[in-house]
Amino acid sequence: MFKKILVANRGEIALRIQRACRELGIKAVMVYSEADRDAKYVKLAEEAVCIGPAASALSYLNMPAIISAAEVTDAEAIHPGYGFLSENADFAERVEKSGFQFIGPTPESIRIRGDKVSAKQAMIKAGVPCVPGSEGELPDDPAQVRRIAKVVGYPVIIKAAGGGGGRGMRVVHTEAALINAVSMTKAEAASAFGNPAVYMEKFLQNPRHIEIQVLADKYKNAVYLGERDCSMQRRHQKIIEEAPAPGIPRKQIERLGERCVAACKKIGYRGAGTFEFLYEDGEFYFIEMNTRVQVEHPVTEMITGIDIVKTQIMVAAGEKLPFTQRQIQIRGHAIECRVNAEDPYKCIPSPGRITMWHAPGGPGVRVDSHIYSNYFVPPHYDSMIGKIIAHGDTREQALARMLTALSETVVEGISSNIPLHRELLVDAKFMTGGTNIHYLEEWLSHHQR
Ligand code: ADP
Repeated sequence: MFKKILVANRGEIALRIQRACRELGIKAVMVYSEADRDAKYVKLAEEAVCIGPAASALSYLNMPAIISAAEVTDAEAIHPGYGFLSENADFAERVEKSGFQFIGPTPESIRIRGDKVSAKQAMIKAGVPCVPGSEGELPDDPAQVRRIAKVVGYPVIIKAAGGGGGRGMRVVHTEAALINAVSMTKAEAASAFGNPAVYMEKFLQNPRHIEIQVLADKYKNAVYLGERDCSMQRRHQKIIEEAPAPGIPRKQIERLGERCVAACKKIGYRGAGTFEFLYEDGEFYFIEMNTRVQVEHPVTEMITGIDIVKTQIMVAAGEKLPFTQRQIQIRGHAIECRVNAEDPYKCIPSPGRITMWHAPGGPGVRVDSHIYSNYFVPPHYDSMIGKIIAHGDTREQALARMLTALSETVVEGISSNIPLHRELLVDAKFMTGGTNIHYLEEWLSHHQR
């Protein structure tokens, strides 16, 4: 096992990784930008290194600064968390070339998934169900493109092979708009992602977002840890996640999970990963794979009792997965609310000083957050300041516990989206379960104030 790991991230996930290291008896070196000097995990750290000014490009995305921090502190491995450099294949490669272990999959795995056309082709080969669409990249010939769209059926979505973060996509409803939409998406993709390749998929109108968590070691053992429903989103940003997904037959999830495991074995995947799917009319369609730990991993930890971050570290150190699929049991239901420093309805970021923070507690309640009273939320990064997770024997109990937790939570000095969560949790449709990915935006448009 490693003796020392460098944590190349900030915020709640930096604290989460630090906690996992402590539990494993590993020293965690924390890095921070000038704006994060006062972070809780920096104060708690045995060792911390400033890697640059507030701007992410100069600190959390600064590969040489991070690698030299690992060198001067004698760390053996680097945990990238999520966001920032976590899915950057060049970073993973540089980490390994500098003699450190990257806590994540191989650079090749990251690269395959980073190109959506190659990721989709790998999934089709492995038997994972995908959205019907073009076979690979769209050709240049307009007549051929029209023919493909006719077979796929309108509406279609044109997606950049190198896209990400909800960018580089365009929905097309009629043949008249097709060719223009393809050339615009290509031009945007070339300038935003340095790769003009685009592909076509059928546009699903009212899907849910369901994802499968996997864990794999380097000996081709892999398991799935059930699913998460992350349909409550705004501008492709998830805000509430839960596990299991309400109303989906277990047998169908098991079949899908087994397909994902087979895909992991086929591509030689190692570490934690997530297969994201759209779910419509009882069918699953793969959209992308995430090759890192995700924000919403705690709901899976709560229903399986498995520590995903610890397992990531163990398999990166060359250990075998400490459990088999048969040993994984789903118990109860878990919900996560992301707490953002933002206006609850207009969703405009609200950085600044938190004059008062009181975290909730009680049975089944978990809080993953780096904030404290008098903490200054820097304006330079994502607005998420923490996550509240509630677990119960049933979905109803998890919801009740979450409502109690939210009623205890105090955030003063800045705006937070807690009032929005409190309204959504008692919304009749959400309480029934199974709302689709457009639900929150439609709800917000009726509740603007
Ligand atoms: P990104 O990497 O940018 O997040 P994804 O492929 O994961 O791109 O898609 C992001 C979101 O775009 C999905 O969560 C979904 O809301 C929407 N989307 C993508 N593909 C389709 C599709 N074929 N039909 C309907 N919506 C889609």
